[in-house]
Amino acid sequence: MIVRGRDVRARCTFCNEEAIYIVKHRKLRLCREHFIDYVKTEVENTIYRFEMLKNVKKLLIAVSGGKDSVTMLHILHQICRELGTEILGLTIDTEIGEFSRKQVETSVQVFKSLGIPYRVERFSDYGIDLLRPDLEKITRRPPCSVCGIAKRYIMNRVALEENCQAIATGHNMIDIAQYAIANILTGSLEYLTKLLPKVEEGPRMARRLRPLYFIDEKETKLYVETVKLPYVADRCPLSDSRETMQDTVRALVRELEDRHPGSIRSFVDKLVRRIIPSLKVPEERYGTCKICGMPSKGEVCSFCRIRMLLRGET
Ligand SMILES: [Zn+2]
Ligand SMILES: [Zn+2]
Repeated sequence: MIVRGRDVRARCTFCNEEAIYIVKHRKLRLCREHFIDYVKTEVENTIYRFEMLKNVKKLLIAVSGGKDSVTMLHILHQICRELGTEILGLTIDTEIGEFSRKQVETSVQVFKSLGIPYRVERFSDYGIDLLRPDLEKITRRPPCSVCGIAKRYIMNRVALEENCQAIATGHNMIDIAQYAIANILTGSLEYLTKLLPKVEEGPRMARRLRPLYFIDEKETKLYVETVKLPYVADRCPLSDSRETMQDTVRALVRELEDRHPGSIRSFVDKLVRRIIPSLKVPEERYGTCKICGMPSKGEVCSFCRIRMLLRGET
């Protein structure tokens, strides 16, 4: 709960400054400075607990320009500097007009202000055009699915090209809980195993890290505002305007955490410690895509398959 100056009795648990944030489940009241410290420490604890940066000499940090990835970049920049881990920023231009233009501009602005080397990759360079009116009909996937496959593919490719052993993405605790519950509802248990804070590397596949696994989206929003970092708050113009099941699940997750502080945090913790380890999901076997040489479950990877469809080859 944000107090912001209304309650003069709300003082920081650690100093006498005015509290701007309350961590209800831990009974902590935090001032500006101690709130920033708290978020950084939480991220650090996640990194150490899951040995995320073990054997990582160079880390690729994927930034969309939203509050989560900007917070992650700002914190990882400090942690990696302390550890001597090299970092590279990556932002992917999905080329869907004003929204993506703002995303790239904001990401580049943050990279530059922190002095972080970065790459910008454009969807058109990979043969993807999300604005094609027949996209959904040809690929038989909604634009969000095409976008997700393309982004994951590009991230992994750039990681390999740049000798990065791991990729960090800014998924927060609410995102993770939402995906997990939605997958349970649809019985897609095999996807649950992909929701760990760290997904180990494989041949031609970089390790995936989610350092914000235990961070509430409320905290990243307050973090960017408190540190005064630029970020894009807009919703993607291609996202479905009707309420999808994912939206409903998200609202439910939000309400649970608000009414029962700590409940979602405890759920994602159980996901890691109990739920996922107890699943008997057969290990996935990856071969090599015969077109691009990247890891693939079938002969052709889903990304190359989409590109073939868009070029009219099947
Ligand atoms: Zn304080
Ligand atoms: Zn391929």
